[in-house]
Amino acid sequence: MRKYIIAGNWKMNKTVAQSVELAKAVVEAAKGIKNTEVVIAPTFLATAKVADVVKGTNVKLAVQDVHFEDQGAFTGKVSVDMVKDLGVEYIILGHSEQRQYFGETDVSVNKKVKKTLAAGLKPIICIGETLAERQGGTLETVLRTQVTGAYAGLSEADALNTVIAYEPVWAIGTGVTASDEQAQDTQAFVRSTVKEIYGEKVSESITIQYGGSMKPDNAAGLLKQKDIDGGLIGGAALKADLFIAIVTAAEQSV
Ligand code: PEP
Repeated sequence: MRKYIIAGNWKMNKTVAQSVELAKAVVEAAKGIKNTEVVIAPTFLATAKVADVVKGTNVKLAVQDVHFEDQGAFTGKVSVDMVKDLGVEYIILGHSEQRQYFGETDVSVNKKVKKTLAAGLKPIICIGETLAERQGGTLETVLRTQVTGAYAGLSEADALNTVIAYEPVWAIGTGVTASDEQAQDTQAFVRSTVKEIYGEKVSESITIQYGGSMKPDNAAGLLKQKDIDGGLIGGAALKADLFIAIVTAAEQSV
């Protein structure tokens, strides 16, 4: 049975005080949640304070990126050990905004994934196609390249500690979501790609989230799909009630 994971990516939103307030509201609302992993990813700046809020609760902490080097002259960057020290358990990697605006490539994602796993943390590996790629017929090539790139050199045991977030770029922050069928078909393809690399045991064990304008009103339909095991949530993660409504939809789909 795969673990459902609902992760809130707060992106570059909320001051530290606002982050603490939102984290407290999520912790309170998530108290009865038993079968779904609830994860929140504040900014780096708010991570330490939010860590204090989630400590000892069923809400897990994530960050939105990390650098692949251990330390040194890398202005503006943060290492895996630094976030691990704060109690971070998940690291979102390869988000399309990182790829689009900050030069993230499959090679840098792969290095970050390896560092994350070596530290005993779990990467949430984001993949997804643009609208032009989908319409141009290269959807499968793009996703296969992203998956094989991210997992290059990873053992089966490593792969079992990863999470994939399939996020069609055209659905992120746009209010347009993939239909249940589109998302299911694509996620089944992603799982089959993992199967090609690692075989059925791994492919059937890996949590594959959907991300892209998931909201309380479309979450249940998406989360009922066979190959959708949770969500990576942007906009709707910034309000505790919307986020928890999605968590509840996941809990009811388990
Ligand atoms: C995201 O950024 O990962 C995301 C899915 O954002 P949104 O929910 O706002 O589309």
